[in-house]
Amino acid sequence: MSQTKEIPLMEKIVSLCKRKGFIFQSSEIYGGINGFWDYGPLGAELKRNLRTTWWNAMMREREDVVPLDATIIMHPAIWKASGHVDTFADPMSTCKSCKKLVRSDQWWAMMCEQPWVQSLAALVEPGTDAFHTGDLLKWAKGKGKQLAPNLALVRNPEITLSWLAQDHEQGKRPQDAREFYLYLATEQRNVTGFVTPCPHCGGELTEPRPFNLMLRTHYGPIESDDNLCYLRPETAQAIFAQFKNVVDSTRVKVPFGIGQIGKAFRNEITPRNFTFRSREFEQMELEFFIPPDEVVQLIHGNVSTWSEGADLSTPQPNWGWEMWHRYWVAQRTAYYAGIGLGPDVLDYYWQSKADLAHYARACVDILFKFPFGTEELEGIAARGDFDLSQHQKHSGKPLEVFDEELRAAAVKLTDEQRAAFITKVQEDWNDHNKSREDATLFCERLLKGFYVPHVIEPSAGLDRLALAVLALAYTEIEKTDAKGAKETVTVMRFHPRIAPKKVAVFPLLKNKPELVSKARGVYDLLKKHLAADYDEGGSIGKRYARQDEAGTPFCVTVDFDTLGERGPELLDTVTLRHRDDGSQERVKISDLLGRLLPLVQ
Ligand code: ATP
Repeated sequence: MSQTKEIPLMEKIVSLCKRKGFIFQSSEIYGGINGFWDYGPLGAELKRNLRTTWWNAMMREREDVVPLDATIIMHPAIWKASGHVDTFADPMSTCKSCKKLVRSDQWWAMMCEQPWVQSLAALVEPGTDAFHTGDLLKWAKGKGKQLAPNLALVRNPEITLSWLAQDHEQGKRPQDAREFYLYLATEQRNVTGFVTPCPHCGGELTEPRPFNLMLRTHYGPIESDDNLCYLRPETAQAIFAQFKNVVDSTRVKVPFGIGQIGKAFRNEITPRNFTFRSREFEQMELEFFIPPDEVVQLIHGNVSTWSEGADLSTPQPNWGWEMWHRYWVAQRTAYYAGIGLGPDVLDYYWQSKADLAHYARACVDILFKFPFGTEELEGIAARGDFDLSQHQKHSGKPLEVFDEELRAAAVKLTDEQRAAFITKVQEDWNDHNKSREDATLFCERLLKGFYVPHVIEPSAGLDRLALAVLALAYTEIEKTDAKGAKETVTVMRFHPRIAPKKVAVFPLLKNKPELVSKARGVYDLLKKHLAADYDEGGSIGKRYARQDEAGTPFCVTVDFDTLGERGPELLDTVTLRHRDDGSQERVKISDLLGRLLPLVQ
């Protein structure tokens, strides 16, 4: 009896993306290129809509954020100042047998996906960590030869298993599943210590070493170290580098933000999970500049700090960095809710002190429950003044702002108050391992009205967001046709604001010129205002199904009633069908735009 195999959700999504023209592998006709993806007709519209929602929420609808559109290739000194040249690296190991590269911190996640690991895991008794040496031996001589030919257990099962047996006799067992696989990869433990197996072939992985993720190129005709440059690994640095120009050319005043959407490139060691980790991707980043808490204290006499239940709805002049950070987490959460990503599919990871970069004060990752696990969609970091200070230092150009209110507040201080203020700052900075000299310099500038703004950085990935909304929209529905046959159909339940096409217009029959011309008229009317599709091929049912798979939230059918053939009261009305519940209603053509626009914008 044949059994139908359950296809994993991610595979179904990848297949739908190709079939419907959401996402294609880049350069597919040449075999593809790992870590690069193209967006097809529907994917391009989807991404554009996501970009627009971010642009509107973060800039158009606010008075305190302005946009920037900077180049991908910038002066290489920018990446030295930002720390990317020296530290933007992931730990990488190489397999001594198959030579494949493995990002060390993703080793276990990759292992769990491998057929050889899964088939070995099946030999462990369910609910325990017990296994039979005989089963392992049989596996090594059979399946193991195909699945993990370079694993020590396969190459030399007796010796490899002897370590397990020896430890077992002494009452020692592998501490966890990971250690179990180290045992199976180790032949000469007394010489090599435990060996980490390659997820691909079971061979021995080298010790991890840092691998810089920046993609390099050269500008100008000569390839030399003098004209080495990088494809930007993030959009943020251009914002810091152009900070002064933006301040000087606009009327912005701290607190304010600069936002940018654009391509970023990272030479990821192991691109994986479809578009989730790509080598070329798009970021949507905001750098929101705020005064340091010391400035707020001087001007307002107090600094508002965060506590549970604090009102984050409207920024206040006395907010300290923590309030601003929480505010942006709340703003971003509201943004996601507005495009259909509610609390049921999001999670938050607050980085611990140990996780944080040395300059960062706090960082939270907003996570999405992807089919392959709960993973980062966006990071929101409170980065202090690190970025602007670094660029100020490396470029030699002042990146301070002047604040008249601050100067006025400083002028009013008595000598004792000034001295007390400086002492307090020195003590606070000392607690954060910053030098007394730096604290004194900072106070000197501050008391004259100058300071380097601090920054809160909500940094989101557009491609990860596109993948998240695709995964969330994917729905299978069981349908029974007129003859009683069951079939499973796919509906992409995108939030109407981000759906690639908002509406599709059909004439009931394509061989009736009056219907076709009326439907074309409706299409022409709608397409000027929203992304519309026109379709006259196949039965109405087939056309609905096509649009459901594309995620179009509304379909409009022009039928004989529209022509007034069943009475004047239905003249110039159409059937409006709703994707998610299949419900239909009769709407006047003249009311269509008014009905649809508020639902899709
Ligand atoms: P990860 O830990 O997943 O590598 P990250 O913390 O390095 O991500 P950031 O440098 O904070 O990521 O970049 C901000 C956002 O850019 C991420 O939240 C993610 O949405 C997106 N992003 C980063 N790297 C990639 C990538 N290789 N492919 C697609 N999107 C990415």
